[in-house]
Amino acid sequence: MIRMEAVDKHFGQLHVLKDVNLQVPKGQVVVVLGPSGSGKSTLCRAINRLEPIDSGVIEIDGKPLPAEGKELARLRAEVGMVFQSFNLFAHKTIAENVLLAPVKVRKQPVAEARKTAMELLERVGIANQAQKYPAQLSGGQQQRAAIARALAMRPKVMLFDEPTSALDPEMVQEVLDVMTTLASEGMTMLVVTHEMGFARKAANRVIFMSDGEIVEDSAPDEFFTAPKSGRAKDFLGKIL
Ligand code: ATP
Ligand code: MG
Repeated sequence: MIRMEAVDKHFGQLHVLKDVNLQVPKGQVVVVLGPSGSGKSTLCRAINRLEPIDSGVIEIDGKPLPAEGKELARLRAEVGMVFQSFNLFAHKTIAENVLLAPVKVRKQPVAEARKTAMELLERVGIANQAQKYPAQLSGGQQQRAAIARALAMRPKVMLFDEPTSALDPEMVQEVLDVMTTLASEGMTMLVVTHEMGFARKAANRVIFMSDGEIVEDSAPDEFFTAPKSGRAKDFLGKIL
């Protein structure tokens, strides 16, 4: 579903993605771990070309991601992304946030998009917040709204970049619960997170990045109990 082959990227002199090879097959959940600055966000952003790459191939659902143009816009619409900061439109209600892209990009009739939006808000447990503005919601509710908004485009893949790290601790679980449900329903997901419970429970694989490289790619049990590299051992020593 997502395939990256020999992907390289620099920021000036800094080599941030080094020969990255990664496949996330349909229905798999892959958790990305690694120290700060190791390239996790850049990896996510490269997948939908929010960040251009120097060389290599990125494919979504078997189709190479072009650098620009209509085809890029079409493939991008199939990749939902949820960030640490919820990035909701402050001057639109929660329902409007969710139905905006389907109406503007997918040209869905408003009534139909509104119905889907309400179903999605129901699914993430905040249907009763639909008419409020983002600032009137808790962080956990806003992040669940952001997930509903991404899902409204019916993506084939969802990318999450530290979706819970800006949340107060008591709100983390409600967002992880939504993600766990999504995973169990078969969504293809790439998730950057430090939530080890989620990684153990929901991930099919754990990828460990260090200095722009994928250093390990293993089953969660294997990674947490017997990491192969010294760098992963160090990292786990610090966070567990
Ligand atoms: P964190 O855990 O702190 O979010 P990360 O693993 O997501 O870190 P990235 O954000 O991908 O790391 O950054 C990788 C490296 O690239 C870092 O050294 C960072 O400073 C650098 N970097 C990221 N974005 C840019 C940019 N737009 N311009 C220049 N350097 C950048
Ligand atoms: Mg990051």
